[in-house]
Amino acid sequence: MQLSENLTLRECTKSITASRLGINNTPDEWETENLRQIARYVFQPLREGLGVPIYVSSGYRSLELNTAIGGSSRSQHIQGRAIDLDADAYGGTTNGDIFRYIRNCIEFDQLIWEFGDEDNPDWVHVSYVHDGDNRGRVLKAVRDDKGQVVYKVIFD
Ligand SMILES: [Zn+2]
Repeated sequence: MQLSENLTLRECTKSITASRLGINNTPDEWETENLRQIARYVFQPLREGLGVPIYVSSGYRSLELNTAIGGSSRSQHIQGRAIDLDADAYGGTTNGDIFRYIRNCIEFDQLIWEFGDEDNPDWVHVSYVHDGDNRGRVLKAVRDDKGQVVYKVIFD
């Protein structure tokens, strides 16, 4: 099923962990609608703006899958409102490019620079709320001395 011209539902639900553990990762109708909205208003404009394929490394996560991978219980991935993007597989465009394009050109709820270095995050997390307020929060995920994940607010 197409969510938008260049994004399928399958790309937003596939998970190696879910396959390996036999976890059902099928979104319900509401969650699918949320995916359709983030595809239409975030992914597609980004895809067309940068003009290159963009890999979705994680999209929808059922509660069971989210628990299995140690995701936050409040993760917007559970509602189908968040996608993780990674340009690494293609070349030409970097994760830093993806981050900056979204920040400058697209309405979003939360945008996260996920680890990486000064030039590029390891991946980009973005969420979108179509039936409420988009906060436009920009965060950077880093690890502290003990290896715990800390989110630094860049813009709120
Ligand atoms: Zn994410």
